[in-house]
Amino acid sequence: GRRKLVVGNWKMNGMRAHLDELEAIGRVAAAHPAVEVGLCLPATLIMAGSERRGAAFIGAQNCHMDISGAYTGSLSAEMLCEAGASWVITGHSERREARGETNEDIAAKSAAAHRVGMKVILCVGETIEVRDAGRAEEVVSDQLLASLPEGAAADWLAVAYEPIWAIGTGRIPTMEAVASMHAALRAALASRIGADEAAKVRILYGGSMNGDNAADLMALADVDGGLVGGASLSAAKFAPIIEAA
Ligand code: 13P
Repeated sequence: GRRKLVVGNWKMNGMRAHLDELEAIGRVAAAHPAVEVGLCLPATLIMAGSERRGAAFIGAQNCHMDISGAYTGSLSAEMLCEAGASWVITGHSERREARGETNEDIAAKSAAAHRVGMKVILCVGETIEVRDAGRAEEVVSDQLLASLPEGAAADWLAVAYEPIWAIGTGRIPTMEAVASMHAALRAALASRIGADEAAKVRILYGGSMNGDNAADLMALADVDGGLVGGASLSAAKFAPIIEAA
């Protein structure tokens, strides 16, 4: 069986004072050892956060695809790893859309993270226009295959399905739509890495996950956890999601 994976994405939130919440989440993680729990922090908090993380892992939210060089303002996977991040998110829609990241960029970033021993949460998801046109599964499966790094394997790569229109909106797809999308993504993975390996890859749901909907979402056969934004910022809101996993 696939161990449930519940990861918070703090996005551009969190100052030093917020590390008390991180510590509380680390204690919740310790109380739920069956669930793998992590927090992807703004880079400024990775070092301090990794000293107070308890049983939660610390991740980053992006990395550069090259190891070093003249890239003002960027951080390499090696730097983030040394700072204390063992995981990194790649391909979040907030970077695909606002920062113009392509599928090729995302595959290269994911491979760069793997080269330094980090694990990767590769994000995919459709716009509302694509969903309404009935093309979500086709488009998101294509996006996954186009951004999947060479040599992708379940021991270092997880996928997060995050419908863009569900992020921060309080709206989520129907359970049937989530179940169907996750099955489609697993089938897409199987076509590339084989059915046995694909069966081991964790596929997370993300987008307005909260304490009220998490249990239903994570009970679906191919939903192996969650990537949580707003509700991961406090232990009080994140704990029920961890408990539901
Ligand atoms: P929300 O949980 O705030 O909708 O954000 C989801 C997300 O984008 C996680 O990466």
